[in-house]
Amino acid sequence: MNTFRIKAYAKINLGLDVLRRRPDGYHEVKMIMQTVDLYDDLEFTKLAEDEIRIFTDKEELPADQGNLIWRAAARMKELYQISEGVSVKLTKRIPIAAGMAGGSADAAATIHAMDALFSLGLSLEEKQKIGVKLGADIPYCLMGGTALSEGIGEILTKLPDVPKAKLVIAKPDLDVSTKFVYENLHADSLQYHPDIDGMVASIEKGDLCGITDRMGNVLETVTCKHYPVIEQMKGILKEHGAVNALMSGSGPTVFGIFTDDQNAKEAYEAMQEAGLARQLFLTGFADGRGRED
Ligand code: ATP
Repeated sequence: MNTFRIKAYAKINLGLDVLRRRPDGYHEVKMIMQTVDLYDDLEFTKLAEDEIRIFTDKEELPADQGNLIWRAAARMKELYQISEGVSVKLTKRIPIAAGMAGGSADAAATIHAMDALFSLGLSLEEKQKIGVKLGADIPYCLMGGTALSEGIGEILTKLPDVPKAKLVIAKPDLDVSTKFVYENLHADSLQYHPDIDGMVASIEKGDLCGITDRMGNVLETVTCKHYPVIEQMKGILKEHGAVNALMSGSGPTVFGIFTDDQNAKEAYEAMQEAGLARQLFLTGFADGRGRED
């Protein structure tokens, strides 16, 4: 095999709680991760030369060590003494610096691709051990679907697929750094904690209403304070029939969940008209399977 194509799916957080800040600076989280039907396309081709070449359609993304694809490929080459190189063509659709784990998804896809291209035969667990050293969300991205994520993101419990629904996902015209949000979070004095255990129980029952009633993200306390447009966008989604709306991850991306297709379409159009979103998608949940083309 000389070429391997793979889809790298974005995630949203249906719930995100921060339990505490550890002495080493990492935050202990309790999150519900959910894959959505929005993905980057990556095409990997073997090179005879010992090089990693990245070609991307987004000028703002680095094509060198600054790109998580590069770092993941380099780590795999080093660990498994691969002397051949790889060329990667990235078609980026996942909003960047958006709270949708776009970089982590690409890194996870790279680990899968290197495994396949160089016939390494790695298990998911082995890939996750490599991934966590490159980024806390990467073990989840390697797996996809619906999951409870604990620790710093490395303790994962697979959950059943959530009931089908429509999603409107909108990224405002601003970039938010995850580091900035966590640095400004007062983890030990949060007034409110979303009911993540209750959400897990609702997911296990397949109760969409129980899930949407419990949606909450403590990082909104930082990001929404700095960027009021986030609440404004959530308001538009709810006015047009979203059963609930929330910021994903550290933001600033906002998503609304719809049980009625027509409402979702109208909310998408209203968001388009409001002109607040740099990127806007009408999509749904995905189950994390079907990554390979
Ligand atoms: P998370 O939800 O995990 O916090 P995010 O959506 O906030 O992630 P990303 O889009 O993953 O953020 O990217 C954050 C930064 O990482 C960007 O500033 C970008 O330059 C850098 N980066 C490196 N490689 C990639 C990549 N392949 N795709 C996107 N961003 C990348």
